[in-house]
Amino acid sequence: MHGSVLYCIVVLFQKIDGVDVALYCMYVQEYGADCAPPNRNVVYLSYIDSVKYFRPEVMSHNGVSLRTYVYHQILQGYLEYVKRLGFEQMFIWACPPLAGDDYILYCHPSKQKTPRSDRLRAWYHDMLRKARAEDGSVAHVSTLWDTFFEGGREHRLDRCTVTAIPYLEGDYWPGEAENLLAAIADAQRSGNAPGGNTALGRKAGGAKGKRYGSGPQSTDEALLSRLGEILGGNMKEDFMVVHLQEPCSFCRRHVAGGILHKYVPSGPGGASLLAKPAPAERRFEGIRLESPGPNLPSGPLQHLQICSECYNAEGQRVAAGQKSRLPGGLTLGDLVQTPVPPIQLTRDPDPDMGSEFFETRQAFLSLCQGNHYQFDSMRRAKHSSMMVLYHLHNPEAPAFSSTCNFCHVEIEPGTGLRCTVCSDFDMCKNCKAAGMRHEHPMVATTNFANRDEMRSRLTEQERIERNQQLQKTLALLVHACSCHNPQCGSTSCRKVRALFQHAVQCTQKVTGGCHLCKKMWCLLNLHAKSCTTSDCPVPRCRELKELRRRQTAHIEQKRRAAYANMMRNAAAGAK
Ligand SMILES: [Zn+2]
Ligand SMILES: [Zn+2]
Ligand SMILES: [Zn+2]
Ligand SMILES: [Zn+2]
Ligand SMILES: [Zn+2]
Ligand SMILES: [Zn+2]
Repeated sequence: MHGSVLYCIVVLFQKIDGVDVALYCMYVQEYGADCAPPNRNVVYLSYIDSVKYFRPEVMSHNGVSLRTYVYHQILQGYLEYVKRLGFEQMFIWACPPLAGDDYILYCHPSKQKTPRSDRLRAWYHDMLRKARAEDGSVAHVSTLWDTFFEGGREHRLDRCTVTAIPYLEGDYWPGEAENLLAAIADAQRSGNAPGGNTALGRKAGGAKGKRYGSGPQSTDEALLSRLGEILGGNMKEDFMVVHLQEPCSFCRRHVAGGILHKYVPSGPGGASLLAKPAPAERRFEGIRLESPGPNLPSGPLQHLQICSECYNAEGQRVAAGQKSRLPGGLTLGDLVQTPVPPIQLTRDPDPDMGSEFFETRQAFLSLCQGNHYQFDSMRRAKHSSMMVLYHLHNPEAPAFSSTCNFCHVEIEPGTGLRCTVCSDFDMCKNCKAAGMRHEHPMVATTNFANRDEMRSRLTEQERIERNQQLQKTLALLVHACSCHNPQCGSTSCRKVRALFQHAVQCTQKVTGGCHLCKKMWCLLNLHAKSCTTSDCPVPRCRELKELRRRQTAHIEQKRRAAYANMMRNAAAGAK
């Protein structure tokens, strides 16, 4: 994966009887501006979870429960927030948890019901409708199928390819695609593929919508049409595409702070032209949040808008005598020039918490499972929440005791000064008192040895310092693993190398409770978690990364299978 992905868990705590209780969580992946398309500027929301302790249990002023109102507000706030960071789309998989399956919070109250698929979908639609009407953060809502597959309601100029669909970790379709690709490769190997006359070809030909062109299907075409069949069924509305900025119907780029040429149904000449579309004609209105569901709204064309570049290109085509690419006999004159306001971009003001437990859903769940932090009763939820907060604010930073770079004396934790520039420069309090000087600014070190002391909240400054300390330690690890200089000036480098030496010779090991070995494993794990180098010098890095990847893949595979099973049962029940 190129570019940066930020994984985060958003947790709502409510103060109940003076104690913060975790009630609602969501797990998101943010694919930044440095990611390659199609993932660029995409947010993926794949898990939300809650426990039913929200108080008071009353209705809000708009006729929904106060709980729903607050949970919606959090999502709406999040949508506004990512929009101002420059994100363009949010993909949502509305997947209800299976009974007995914990998404983020461990061990739910036994009497809490899991929402049905259609209820969860409606819950999201309500939220998105409010986000569009109240906050203006949502420009357009559609589905994965409508956007990328043949017969979808979104206008496409060209046939889509699989590589145009954002590939989001743990998402449903990439897993299906892997299975399908294996089947397609089998079919092609047994010589059935060419001619489009095979079982695969016939199936695709019979699918809804017209084929683009003719001739033998490529692997990409075969994959896309098979995926379209799967995602176009009763799963269709569960995979939502939320546009935070206005998309161009031709090039699919998002427009902010520019001009869009919009088709307005009541605009000049338009309404009468398109009032009665032929039954087979494609429509382009995306989801109507007012009436979601598989039945297409039967009104006139609602949503067609093109950017200035596409508008000008279209003008040149028409002037050159080429066929217009506008649907339904529309001409450029039917489009109304509409200014699109720019987005007030902000920078993310929150420093990275740097806590490994909050980075992935699984790490968080494992922390709770391993420590029996349960949420099945209010009393337990209170205790579990407190422990979760404790871990959030006390990340396991494997701090090495440091040595004074002036007098080479071991510095007692929390008593020395550390350079804010050098990765490894410390001074003891005696040298400071003696007036020793270093060329960079120095800060007092925090005492990491005291983390057992129960403090659930650190100051912002302390949190930033801890994170910096962690980053320095990890940089040092990479240095020490590739440093072969016996005269290396860094004392910490020698310490890390001594630690490796110890680990090789140690007879106790982690299983025997060796403190040093534990420290080393903790460090290697932390490194592997964030390492993206393929030929990394750090020992065990590749193994640990592979282990982590396999564990995650296994869990996601189970979720997909359970979801597919649930949808099959729902389809069978509907017949
Ligand atoms: Zn365009
Ligand atoms: Zn000293
Ligand atoms: Zn320095
Ligand atoms: Zn070194
Ligand atoms: Zn050991
Ligand atoms: Zn590595």
